Amino acid sequence: MRLKDLKIPGYERVVKCEDESSGLNAIIAIHNTNLGPAIGGCRVWNYKTEEDMLNDVLRLSKAMTYKCAMAGLPFGGGKCVIKAKQKEKTKKLLEAMAEFVNKVGQIYTGEDVGLTMDDVEIMRQKSKYIVGVKDKSGDPSVLTSIGVYYGMKACLDFIGLPMEKTKILIQGVGNTGGNLAKRIAQECKELLLCDLKEEKMNDAAKNLKAKTCDPKNIFECKFDVFSPCALGKVINKKSVKKLYNVGCKVIAGSANNQLSIDIIGYILKNYGIIYAPDYVINAGGVISVSREITNESDEKILERVKNIGNTITEILERSKKENLPTNVIANIIAEERIYDKN
Ligand code: NAD
Repeated sequence: MRLKDLKIPGYERVVKCEDESSGLNAIIAIHNTNLGPAIGGCRVWNYKTEEDMLNDVLRLSKAMTYKCAMAGLPFGGGKCVIKAKQKEKTKKLLEAMAEFVNKVGQIYTGEDVGLTMDDVEIMRQKSKYIVGVKDKSGDPSVLTSIGVYYGMKACLDFIGLPMEKTKILIQGVGNTGGNLAKRIAQECKELLLCDLKEEKMNDAAKNLKAKTCDPKNIFECKFDVFSPCALGKVINKKSVKKLYNVGCKVIAGSANNQLSIDIIGYILKNYGIIYAPDYVINAGGVISVSREITNESDEKILERVKNIGNTITEILERSKKENLPTNVIANIIAEERIYDKN
């Protein structure tokens, strides 16, 4: 196993690993540990180039620093990436990755895109730094959806719109969107569900007495709140105008990377649409996993998840006062927490 430290400005440590016997080609990036040891998932992706792989791990590890800071967690940001096709993801390769994690230390890692819970179990056998295992903190999507619920409530409170008078559209009724739907179905005025999987969408709608919305024409439905719980980049140059036209007042959902580019935050602000920054509102998952390391009680963990609502309120108030979009304000607050601790 050959390890090489890459010197990347702004990052505490970036290490590349190549291991001939297992075929492992991976990078671990530790972005910042001012607030505590790094935490971040391990992604398996068939990157086209070495440069793509490096860019991804740098972007994702930095995002974790900001996410942990905004969640008030005593952790910093890191990420692991493995360049491999799914069929190349052998037990030997996963064990080699766990060994690489042990050698670097300083980072807790676990499930991410391309890595299943079973893969995580294999890695766990070789490393104490592997978290998010089946029999410990459990399914993170439950706490993620609870966090989204409190974040959404904070947005509605901010504009003085009670949930019982609100029409909400959830895009994606999977793990997070499905849980959220169950939580708000009784509370809101009308619930609209949308999913590419028609049967899943219809079943959920039937159970919750909700309506459905055709995923191809999602922005032709009328709603007050849009809750993206499926995929990234749904808020883009085209959709932002449609959201405005249908009268959307709030965007609050679990999906990662909701804005196609950061500048969309300015357009949303100009349109008067309240946007709950994705990495703040969807931090319930990392809070859930963190308990494996901190051993915090269920009450403390739930308190942290509920606090997502307070953090969203703080962002909305500062956004109004400083006349800057919420995504920009979230980054400013995160940087204040990370770099101006004293
Ligand atoms: P999931 O795979 O369980 O559910 C996603 C659902 O969205 C699926 O039912 C899928 O059919 C549907 N979908 C996909 N594309 C769609 C489209 N164009 N229109 C309508 N429906 C579509 O995923 P999840 O765990 O609920 O995660 C959803 C999002 O939240 C992802 O972006 C994920 O990265 C993010 N997230 C999840 C967690 C977590 O704890 N699971 C934590 C933080 C962030």
